[in-house]
Amino acid sequence: MTEPGYADRVRGALLGGGIGDALGWPVEFQQLYQIRGQHGPAGVTGLPTGGRVAEVTDDTQMTLFTAEGLIRGFVRGWSGDGGSVPEAVHGAYQRWLLTQQQGAPSRRPLPRPYDGWLLRHPFLYARRAPGNACMSGVSEHREFEAPAAFGQPGPINAHSKGCGTVMRSAPFGLGRLGVEQSFGLAAQCAQLTHGHPTGYLAAGAFASLVERLADGTEPWTAVGQTVDQVGEWPGGKETVQALHRAVRVAEASEPSAEAVERVGLGWIAEECLAIAVYCLLAASGPDPAREALLLSVNHSGDSDSTGAVCGNLVGAAYGASALPADWTEAVEGGETLLRVADDLLVLFGSREPAHPALGGRYPAW
Ligand SMILES: [Mg+2]
Repeated sequence: MTEPGYADRVRGALLGGGIGDALGWPVEFQQLYQIRGQHGPAGVTGLPTGGRVAEVTDDTQMTLFTAEGLIRGFVRGWSGDGGSVPEAVHGAYQRWLLTQQQGAPSRRPLPRPYDGWLLRHPFLYARRAPGNACMSGVSEHREFEAPAAFGQPGPINAHSKGCGTVMRSAPFGLGRLGVEQSFGLAAQCAQLTHGHPTGYLAAGAFASLVERLADGTEPWTAVGQTVDQVGEWPGGKETVQALHRAVRVAEASEPSAEAVERVGLGWIAEECLAIAVYCLLAASGPDPAREALLLSVNHSGDSDSTGAVCGNLVGAAYGASALPADWTEAVEGGETLLRVADDLLVLFGSREPAHPALGGRYPAW
């Protein structure tokens, strides 16, 4: 396999997430025996073919809005207009909420914050089992609330640590911000919906891991560095333990669905991250992206979220060019994911908030 370039890895991270989400969505609420009963002993082996669209869910939808908020936050900052990235991401999640509350794009222009270009995409208006804390955190906190210091309970849903923090946070690792800032912004923005320290620190760890992989760090090394990073924060212990479990299981046994379930089921943030990491590390055959993605969805847990997070990781590690071409073509929203990946590359590559290639998609408010 030739070494992928940085742009290929950024595109792969977003596209891979969509693919993993689409692979896992049909079996999100099924036990392993049910998956095998319906799909055969190997479980899910691919996406629908013959021109049918492979649907994505809240994981991919929220990831797109995270990227939009992240870009708008930096556009605003670099334009000298003040404000913060978490505030901009808060606005983006208000737009995401609108897609979950109405069935199609509005016919008339809407006032701020409902002015984003993503809102023009009908496919984002599908409601496919969005998480409770994501919905309540966004709908019950229309005004921005500043995040808490790491280790303290956040201001919103203080006891929640569902995987909704991790599954939407890949874009923070795709701006070459440095692993401290990508971790910090992801963990702060995770507090917009989840206040349990594990919930938001696992999101920080995920974003910094995405950044390391996208920068070309070898996966085992990247995971080790990420474990050390999250372990430095008060409240990081559960995430460290889950990641240690992922590494131990990957070292000790051949890849299998049973091994995945020894790592966890993925409904909570640190387990979702740990399963994705396990699948990244365990898949060592000639086609590691396909192998990891299939491992990440065939289990009794939260298959679409573990698939999405694993897809972000393998895409960052191996690039879009390493993803199965027929899956890339089938995944819903694929063109939008690539458009956003290219927007991230343009903005963070040039640091020009009004770069013509951004096409006015990211206003400075
Ligand atoms: Mg989902």
